[in-house]
Amino acid sequence: MPKILLIEDEEKIARFVELELTHEGYEVFKAMDGRKGLEMAESGGYDLLLLDIMLPELNGMEVLRRLRKTSSVPVIMLTARDAVMDKVTGLDAGADDYITKPFSIEELLARIRLALRKQQTPALPQLVCGPLAMDIARHTVAVDGEQVDLTGREFSLLQMLIENQSIVLTRDALMERVWGYDYVGETNIVDVYIRYLRSKIDDRFNIKLIHTVRGVGYTIKQEQGHD
Ligand code: CA
Repeated sequence: MPKILLIEDEEKIARFVELELTHEGYEVFKAMDGRKGLEMAESGGYDLLLLDIMLPELNGMEVLRRLRKTSSVPVIMLTARDAVMDKVTGLDAGADDYITKPFSIEELLARIRLALRKQQTPALPQLVCGPLAMDIARHTVAVDGEQVDLTGREFSLLQMLIENQSIVLTRDALMERVWGYDYVGETNIVDVYIRYLRSKIDDRFNIKLIHTVRGVGYTIKQEQGHD
């Protein structure tokens, strides 16, 4: 059972996250301030840290900076909306990922699974969805062994989808993860790139992997039969 240390001073959020993660089979430990959190994290034994930035005693960024001197445990930062600087600084300081409050539990769970998987397999595995295989290290994509040429953005978008297989990702989440928080431009950019991917993968090979979930976003999955 993976052990997760949650360092979060907002009791409501901490309780909600603890409840959901426990329900998912994680063992959750909590610290309500930065100093206590750092102390617990340094004692080791956790598979992953969820670290809020605005914390009493010692802020999350400082906790991370100190912790990284001795530990490479995966850390997902919990940041306030629009705090672009926090994210940049957080990733620079050695965070593995960040998630913006308010977040959905599904998104948090997806990030946790991803971070834990990365930790377990330092050599990037092939990502597979039905006949589609992505080799992250070699930056190649193939369907039934036949090479597909993708641009950098298309590749990132496909990777994001395939790493979160069968989970519906919202346009906002895809936009933030693939284009970055400070992206300025067409708001339908995600839809445009989904169309590119569909024409290069689904249409070309006559398969259906990329699915639209109306009013929500997109997901990639292999379905039995056709729709
Ligand atoms: Ca806080």
